[in-house]
Amino acid sequence: MADKKQNKRNNNKNYDDDYNPKFRKQRKKVCILCSDKNFVLDYKNPEQLRKFINDKGKILPRRTTGACSKHQRDITLAVKRARHIAMLPYAQN
Ligand SMILES: [Zn+2]
Repeated sequence: MADKKQNKRNNNKNYDDDYNPKFRKQRKKVCILCSDKNFVLDYKNPEQLRKFINDKGKILPRRTTGACSKHQRDITLAVKRARHIAMLPYAQN
């Protein structure tokens, strides 16, 4: 019995539904810029970029936006450009 449990644990070390309850209901996010080819990131469009910043005006991390590393860099650049031309805030409150 103990052996069996140990075995299951080892098999499911990297991705698993029931071993670690902390990660149980996590679903893999898909990068919205990769999945939607018509989605063009534009630094002159603050409404679009608002999805990638939090209420304090900070850029959201990749684990939250779900963007791939390439597109996260694009998002960061776009947000920073938008801040420079005062379409997005550097900080709020
Ligand atoms: Zn992507």
